[in-house]
Amino acid sequence: MKKHWLVGNWKMHGNLKANAELFNAIRSGTGELAPEVDMVLCPAFPYLAQMQGLVEGTGIQIGAQNASDHLRGAYTGETSPLMLKELGCGFVIIGHSERRSYQGENDGLMGRKALAAIDAGLIPILCVGETAEERDAGRTHEVLGRQLDAAFGYIRTAHDNIIVAYEPRWAIGTGIAATPEIVQAEHAFLRARIGQRDAEFAKRLTILYGGSVKASNAASLLSMPDVDGGLIGSAALNASEFVAIYKAL
Ligand code: PGA
Repeated sequence: MKKHWLVGNWKMHGNLKANAELFNAIRSGTGELAPEVDMVLCPAFPYLAQMQGLVEGTGIQIGAQNASDHLRGAYTGETSPLMLKELGCGFVIIGHSERRSYQGENDGLMGRKALAAIDAGLIPILCVGETAEERDAGRTHEVLGRQLDAAFGYIRTAHDNIIVAYEPRWAIGTGIAATPEIVQAEHAFLRARIGQRDAEFAKRLTILYGGSVKASNAASLLSMPDVDGGLIGSAALNASEFVAIYKAL
């Protein structure tokens, strides 16, 4: 059986007290993690050390929401993936649509960041997704293919440890998730695209869905055959929602 992944992206939310309360509520809701589930929580940078302490001995893993495309150097305000690794991170979200929209990150930068993360020993969670306009214009596959190819152009071999997340921009934070049929179709497209590079790698590649996943739609979305788990934003800030999604895996 393939593992099922549940990644919580806490975005720019939380504080020391709220994080501890949220974590403890999630922990008491899930109890001992099921062995086939990988749960990753991604707080904002300043709270990674706090989370490193909280997750100790629980089997829950931590990730960052962004990282530099360089490992070290004169890059004021940036955070090296090596530093994230030292703070206990196993993962880093790369190319989230909010960074593409608000920080102007492009496909090339996403590829360089993914490569730096891999070099630092982190697993990048590479986000790809089309806008509503691109979907309406019938350009979804062109956009997803371009984003994926740009990133994989930087990654030296397809055997590097990497996770892909399909996150249609129109579904992120809107409360309106993609339908299970759309999700399955786009995941199958992404898997086939990677399969053109390496068929064996494509079969075992983890592809997450993100965009308005909540307790009420989790089972139908996450049970689709090419979906290996979820990348959860808003619902990850609510312990009972997040625990219900975990139970729906
Ligand atoms: P959402 O966010 O679950 O609030 O739609 C998902 C994400 O940003 O990864």
